[in-house]
Amino acid sequence: MLAHRGAPFAPPSVTDLASVLMTSPAGRHFLQIPGPTNVPERILRAIDRATIDHRGPQFGALGREVLAGMQALFKTRSPVVIYPASGTGAWEAALVNTLDPGDRVLMAETGQFATLWKNMAARLGLQPEFIAGDWRRGADPGAIEAALIADTAHAIRAVCVVHNETSTGVTSRIGAVRAAIDRARHPALFMADTISSLGSIDYRHDEWEVDVTVGGSQKGLMLPPGLSFNALSDKALAAARRSKMPKSYWAWEEMLASNKSGYFPYTPATNLLYGLREALTMLLEEQGLEQVFRRHDRHADATRKAVRAWGLELQCLEPAEFSSSLTAVRMPSGHSEVRFRQIVLERFDMSLGSGLGKIADKVFRIGHLGDFNDLSLLGTLAGVEMGLELAGVPHSKGGVAAAMSALTAVATVASAEVRSAA
Ligand SMILES: *Cc1c(COP(=O)(O)O)cnc(C)c1O
Repeated sequence: MLAHRGAPFAPPSVTDLASVLMTSPAGRHFLQIPGPTNVPERILRAIDRATIDHRGPQFGALGREVLAGMQALFKTRSPVVIYPASGTGAWEAALVNTLDPGDRVLMAETGQFATLWKNMAARLGLQPEFIAGDWRRGADPGAIEAALIADTAHAIRAVCVVHNETSTGVTSRIGAVRAAIDRARHPALFMADTISSLGSIDYRHDEWEVDVTVGGSQKGLMLPPGLSFNALSDKALAAARRSKMPKSYWAWEEMLASNKSGYFPYTPATNLLYGLREALTMLLEEQGLEQVFRRHDRHADATRKAVRAWGLELQCLEPAEFSSSLTAVRMPSGHSEVRFRQIVLERFDMSLGSGLGKIADKVFRIGHLGDFNDLSLLGTLAGVEMGLELAGVPHSKGGVAAAMSALTAVATVASAEVRSAA
């Protein structure tokens, strides 16, 4: 069971944890990791239907509908590919469809997810060049420009950037990276990972001339894990026709041929596609994408006000790169985020994101993306504030109050705008 404050911390055994959770079965679990996120009832109900014949007459309409909806979400007129896979699969698809063995790829060390993508590139037989970073800032457009200018032979074949680095709560400026590639007059492909930003933070595949954008279902799209995406460009399709990397399951060619009529070359995740259709209706038609981005901005702003009121430090150092889908918070030195999160889970039945890779046990992460509103944010922040107290982490009170003031202040401005417009 839970150690008392000050007592040495021993991680609880699985049976300990199970018994704690069984003693508090009431109310809902707060799943405030930055993905998978809470799946709304509507999407659960949409998924809860009989699986249909994926080669039968009904399926094509579903396929065409979700493929078109995904183009709207990525803001692209080019094709989008949907894989029955986690996001990692779509990372691999982006690389193996466009490149040749031994190709040099320029990647930016923004945090753990950028590191994993880089490691994958190396394992696939590519030659990643990693622009070093301190995990507290986004990809540096100036450093990318310099590396491309230095590559006078144009041996670098792709630039890969994680849009929203989920391990650090830092959002890289994809439009600025595009401008850097253009200034360098370099022909490299441009690839971006939007797994934890798509449907939460503004993203423009066509306008920023990204060649392959990678996405996933279980974060801003409010779906369970199991779908991932590649949004393409003409340049990516041309590269795919020449690419010599071995590929079969991930190959775009057969996928795009079948997708023309709304079908898939192998069995798609039919029930997740029912859920995707519902999610796209909610995001694009009912809530409105720009409104969804503003909601995420507002919750992120209120979260940062709470963190500052607690006297804790944000992992992200660059205000222009604050993430709107999650906030990573640094623990005061000598305090363990693992122990803190364990206490929050045991006492309040809330899951927070852990510190990953280099910042394990130093940073915890608050997910505020997906199916989320003002009161879900305040419940989350209340759990954090009480957890800080119980874990004996030095902090000031008043984080939740600061967030409430932020939320009501913005609401007041919004209603004043409505009044003055009327
Ligand atoms: C979650 C995540 C991934 C990994 O996706 P999986 O679905 O776990 O394979 C990759 N990149 C980013 C930015 C992520 O947030």
